[in-house]
Amino acid sequence: MSWWEKIALVVGMVVFMECFAWAAHKYVMHGWGWGWHRSHHEPHEGWFEKNDLYAIVFAIVPIVMFVVGLWWEPLWWMALGITVYGGIYAFVHDLLVHQRGGFRWVPKRGYFKRLLQAHRLHHAVEGKDGTVSHGFLFARSPAALKAQLRGRIDPRRAAPATPVAQTAPDR
Ligand SMILES: [Zn+2]
Ligand SMILES: [Zn+2]
Repeated sequence: MSWWEKIALVVGMVVFMECFAWAAHKYVMHGWGWGWHRSHHEPHEGWFEKNDLYAIVFAIVPIVMFVVGLWWEPLWWMALGITVYGGIYAFVHDLLVHQRGGFRWVPKRGYFKRLLQAHRLHHAVEGKDGTVSHGFLFARSPAALKAQLRGRIDPRRAAPATPVAQTAPDR
């Protein structure tokens, strides 16, 4: 394999994994998989969350791919792409946003600030439903997400709206 084919596979897998992570987060973790993900949306004691089981399960795939990739090289480079994504994800989500392990860096501007704000807005909604911003490396602007949040608030949970001044009916 040429070097550009290897790079294309790694970069392609990083992009693919962001799409996969978005879909898994939106439809599985906030769907039938909420049982594990809930721990990530609730305050808790200690270092680990039940949600970390997802990382372990998802890690099995590239491990198998690395092994099979010893016989079929493209698979090895795809596994590397997944691993690179896992590393970026762990940095952005676990360290930067959730400051696990005592990591403290609050970016003041740019791409990382946008990611930080976007994922904080994901956690702005309590519970499984009505959350926004399910991606990790691609995020809409905080302003767009806030507008999306306002539009999604469940009217049953929202404070009663102030009555709109009514005009007198025509006679
Ligand atoms: Zn979530
Ligand atoms: Zn989070």
